[in-house]
Amino acid sequence: SAKIIDGKSVAKQIRDEIAGEIVKLKDATGVVPGLAVVLVGSRKDSQTYVRNKKKACEAVGITSYEANLPDDSTEEEVIKQISLFNNDPSVHGILVQLPLPRHMNEENILNAVGIEKDVDGFHPLNIGRLAMQGRESLFVPCTPKGCIELLHRYDVEIKGKRAVVIGRSNIVGMPAALLLQRANATVSIVHSYTKNPEEITRQADIVITAVGVANLVRGSWIKPGAVVIDVGINPVDDAESPKGYRLVGDVCFEEVSKVASAITPVPGGVGPMTIAMLLSNTLSSAKRLHNFQ
Ligand code: NAD
Repeated sequence: SAKIIDGKSVAKQIRDEIAGEIVKLKDATGVVPGLAVVLVGSRKDSQTYVRNKKKACEAVGITSYEANLPDDSTEEEVIKQISLFNNDPSVHGILVQLPLPRHMNEENILNAVGIEKDVDGFHPLNIGRLAMQGRESLFVPCTPKGCIELLHRYDVEIKGKRAVVIGRSNIVGMPAALLLQRANATVSIVHSYTKNPEEITRQADIVITAVGVANLVRGSWIKPGAVVIDVGINPVDDAESPKGYRLVGDVCFEEVSKVASAITPVPGGVGPMTIAMLLSNTLSSAKRLHNFQ
């Protein structure tokens, strides 16, 4: 049965590496990396994500700044807050917690983040460079970056392999496919209009799923020996759990773990890597803005 790709322990190792590098940066230059989070509205889930990001920053020595704007803020007010952070030298990374309230245009807001502080990698210029041969984006989106980092740390060769990404969202599926291609895999993208997703997925040596449908990917979808990275986080009813539900991925773990050679669990796979990559992007940004090698 498949080896478990332990995202939780890899993420811990990365956070320890980051904490060590932050000490070095501070000793040599006096600079402390800073991450600013812009939260618009009062969604409970977004508040939880922001709180977790702030805690993770503190644990490695990154100073976090937060701007909370009310639900009925205007786009101009949010953009003004972003410009304050763009111009603040103690801030090296800015992230706008998504989703934004419905009356706002996400593109206008994400465009306002200075590309040199775009630690989420969602600015169109950073995404555009990711898609172009021979160009380097300043930042790669955290979740897909975390998926590739897991493959690297488990010595999974990507070059020349067939990869299938299920899902094509701007924040996960699409950049994951671009990253696999940059690492010289041959990549297919399966999405909600794909015919015979099972047959296409079965050709893959590496599968990354980012869909949001519990148990979509069955054992029969997977080529024996493939490596499976499950980004999905889906609540399913569970009377035995105190909350009444538990979280599962897009992959039917029970079946797929019998066929794959390695697989990420949910939780404890990609999830912890996302925050680790955010911290890593913030540190790189501080180093770049202060010319520290
Ligand atoms: P999204 O809803 O924006 O995109 C889902 C994608 O899946 C779409 O491109 C759609 O075409 C595709 N899709 C939908 N139904 C499909 C089907 N039946 N077959 C094939 N493709 C189908 O979602 P997202 O933001 O990319 O997130 C996807 C999942 O990943 C969610 O469960 C989310 O909670 C999770 N997620 C996890 C992390 C993490 O850190 N682990 C980060 C972001 C998202």
